[in-house]
Amino acid sequence: MIHKILNNKCPHCDKGHIYREKNIYFNFRKPKMNKSCSHCGYAFEKEPGFFFGAMYVSYALGIAEAVAVFIIGTFFFENTFDLRILPWIAITILLLSSFNMRMARIIWIYLLKGV
Ligand SMILES: [Zn+2]
Repeated sequence: MIHKILNNKCPHCDKGHIYREKNIYFNFRKPKMNKSCSHCGYAFEKEPGFFFGAMYVSYALGIAEAVAVFIIGTFFFENTFDLRILPWIAITILLLSSFNMRMARIIWIYLLKGV
């Protein structure tokens, strides 16, 4: 499942792609999504505003990444809570923002697949 999500695959047939662009990991242009699967016709956006909920997924991803950077940071800083870690967290979230946005929508599609 995680493999399918990371490979931008249709949750229904595993063959079509959700995003039209090849690079979905590090791409700051506006995401280009297919409305439906090119292979099986599965509709990715079920209704207008469907991806509103993906914001929460994106938020959760951001938190997870911030925690990960913080944990890694504790190996490099002497104090457990060193404020110098904050810019690193900010940079990481900025760099991963496009990744998060795309991943959040894919995860959202997978979460609501059965609905
Ligand atoms: Zn499909």
